[in-house]
Amino acid sequence: MAVITMSPRASDGRSRRKATPVAIGGVTIGGDHPVAVQSMTNTDTADAPGTAAQVIALAQAGSELVRITVNTPESAAAVPEIKRRVRDAGLATPIVGDFHFSGHLLLHDFPACAEALDKYRINPGNVGAGARHDSHFQRIIEAAVANGKPVRIGVNWGSLDRELLTSLMDENARRPKPLPDREVTLDAMFQSAVRSAALAEEFGQPHDAIVLSAKVSGVRDLLDIYRRLAAETDYALHLGLTEAGMGMKGLVASTAGLSTLLLEGIGDTIRVSLTPTPDGDRREEVYACQQILQSCEIRSFQPQVTSCPGCGRTTSSFFQELALRVNDRLRERMPEWRKRYPGVEELRVAVMGCVVNGPGESRHAHIGISLPGSGENPKAPVFVDGTLTTTLQGPRLAEEFLALVEEYVVSHYGAAPRA
Ligand code: SF4
Repeated sequence: MAVITMSPRASDGRSRRKATPVAIGGVTIGGDHPVAVQSMTNTDTADAPGTAAQVIALAQAGSELVRITVNTPESAAAVPEIKRRVRDAGLATPIVGDFHFSGHLLLHDFPACAEALDKYRINPGNVGAGARHDSHFQRIIEAAVANGKPVRIGVNWGSLDRELLTSLMDENARRPKPLPDREVTLDAMFQSAVRSAALAEEFGQPHDAIVLSAKVSGVRDLLDIYRRLAAETDYALHLGLTEAGMGMKGLVASTAGLSTLLLEGIGDTIRVSLTPTPDGDRREEVYACQQILQSCEIRSFQPQVTSCPGCGRTTSSFFQELALRVNDRLRERMPEWRKRYPGVEELRVAVMGCVVNGPGESRHAHIGISLPGSGENPKAPVFVDGTLTTTLQGPRLAEEFLALVEEYVVSHYGAAPRA
């Protein structure tokens, strides 16, 4: 098995695991390529217009790869139409097919689907049992080889290859000092991923067309399994905490796991698997990936607003309202700014609640405002690149500050439109 090398992370000089690069459509992951953001639709893939609309929304939000489930003949038949609609919208985002149980049939019965997809995800725990396992797996790999597509061998805690797990558990039970079940299970996940990758290569899949993942729902388990995959293989790794959960729990757990690994230089593409609320916005998983990468200073996507939590010194809601308005305005302006002002995603804005930390934090930002706390002189100094440039007050303070932010963007990030 290949010995992994560490290379400087292009963006910040930290050490990064240098995985074998894998080209997925027009996006390459691994090597020194940026850690890619990915997401997955939750529409019925058989509904081509609905699925294409969600792929487009996710891609426009910044998802660099979008996965769709391909679970029925109807969904496989819809894939070429989905791809056509996404390309007609002017988006080149690679579309990945997620296969379980029936991939060996669908990829052969629907050759246009096999051709249209940019990558196939295979779960080795869900390709059939016993003698059928290898033959089903082989048929999927044959489709990948015939169409020149990369695959992700995606092992999942919830659908781990039962036969492999049972055999490793039996082997462990015969040891004089058996290992805890957790260790055997994590070993089974590792073995399932690397044995499947070796089998794929035996069936003709090129080494540089294989991505691995081993998703679990616990942070410590995630760290252990990925550290081992990173140390003992050179395959590109897709990171994600599976079944992360809803809202705050899902976000915090995913951030804890993914950030730790990313800061160790592990991971070539990430997904945050949040359970959406019934009327939730699927793009949240894209924004979460972007924020994790940006908070870890690995990639920049969006200007960042530093704002304090507020305390007894900010008794009115004005401070929170201004912080919210600034955040909303930046997100709203980004589609245009991104085209006109290269580098604007690095912008740092501060909105602070009082004189205690306000001037200091505002000086550290590119542009910052320090609002008056309760009982302070009702004036708000504005700092630009560390220097006090003006003081705002009165009912138009918010609008005037937002105008200064706009002015800063125009004057500091150039006006040359991107081709
Ligand atoms: S900057 Fe002022 S208002 Fe904000 S948390 Fe600190 S003390 Fe409170």
